[in-house]
Amino acid sequence: MRGEESVRPEPEAAPAGEGPAMMVCPSCERLLPAGSPYCPHCCGVDGRRGATARGAMFGWLFGFLAGGLASAAWSSFVGPEQTTWTPVLTATLGGATVGMIVGMIVNRLR
Ligand SMILES: [Zn+2]
Repeated sequence: MRGEESVRPEPEAAPAGEGPAMMVCPSCERLLPAGSPYCPHCCGVDGRRGATARGAMFGWLFGFLAGGLASAAWSSFVGPEQTTWTPVLTATLGGATVGMIVGMIVNRLR
């Protein structure tokens, strides 16, 4: 008995239109098995970690912009001479950090 070596290759390129249980990834528009929690093409094997990293990056960017805007508003409020780097950096980096954490939490809860 030596015929049980039929290792099934993973269907990397799914034939289009085959089978009813398929869905299309909203990001890369590739076909996925229906019910997939994540897209293996976009997020890799560990899709959850990829989604978390993406959420963190998005949140970081958003927080960075929000902090920068707050700093600019503060600068125009107190005047450029009164603007020191400490509150500006604190607001910008603080906003970025908070945004990153929020982005990670939001992605984890989803
Ligand atoms: Zn995808």
